[in-house]
Amino acid sequence: MAGFQGAIFDVDGVLVDSPHEAAWRESLRELMEGEWSDVRGRTTWTPDAFTSHVYQTEVSGKPRLAGARAALEHFHVPDVDARVEAYAERKQAMVVRLIEAGRFTAYDDALRLVIDVKESGLLLAAASSSKNAHLLLRRIRLDRFAAEHGIDAPSVTPGATLLDVFDVDVSGRDFPHGKPHPDMFLAAAAELGVEPAAALVVEDAPAGVQAAKAGGMAAIGIARADDADLLARAGADVVVTSLDQVDRAALRSGRLARTAPAEGGR
Ligand SMILES: [Mg+2]
Repeated sequence: MAGFQGAIFDVDGVLVDSPHEAAWRESLRELMEGEWSDVRGRTTWTPDAFTSHVYQTEVSGKPRLAGARAALEHFHVPDVDARVEAYAERKQAMVVRLIEAGRFTAYDDALRLVIDVKESGLLLAAASSSKNAHLLLRRIRLDRFAAEHGIDAPSVTPGATLLDVFDVDVSGRDFPHGKPHPDMFLAAAAELGVEPAAALVVEDAPAGVQAAKAGGMAAIGIARADDADLLARAGADVVVTSLDQVDRAALRSGRLARTAPAEGGR
């Protein structure tokens, strides 16, 4: 029987609109306007310079220290080695504050795909580089979402949070290499008991798509930031702008396809 047996979901940018991007941006602004203002003139940083594009291409999907280093190097901040931990710590404190304040939302299209995939009998893993992923996932009530949207899903039991529907959560573990290295996804597949070739990965970051393909897995790229081309170039088998476009019948038969044609008739 051909088909997918496991689905591995990135968290930030796929399942939730999490406050990481805001935390990276705001914590660097605090430093540049505060303790680090003496070196500000030697950098390319300005209050508007940390765009979503910079976040997507330099920081997203990387472990915390690697993300901090990439951002500081991007803005040519001097003495990166001496600053990287301070930046990473400030960002972490800020993101926890934002999560606890409820400053994030789950994506409806992602919750619908999670439920459909679960109902199809696939095993589910969460695989985020972030150590905060479980904080986000357990604050989202999947049973309420299903009830509010009239979704009949026996696998979503009363009281179930988004964290509860995942069979495995490898988020935030320290692996020798972060994405785009496939370590994390290979560990997720192994813990699900699924061969990489029978696993699909849902990712919003080019580095995550590269990690999935390097691990021999199928990859859905969800372009939430007008970056479909980057995801396609990273090797995604299918790129969508909403996870509702993932063809469910094809998925159940072990293929990835998009229901809606791409704009421009491609
Ligand atoms: Mg992501």
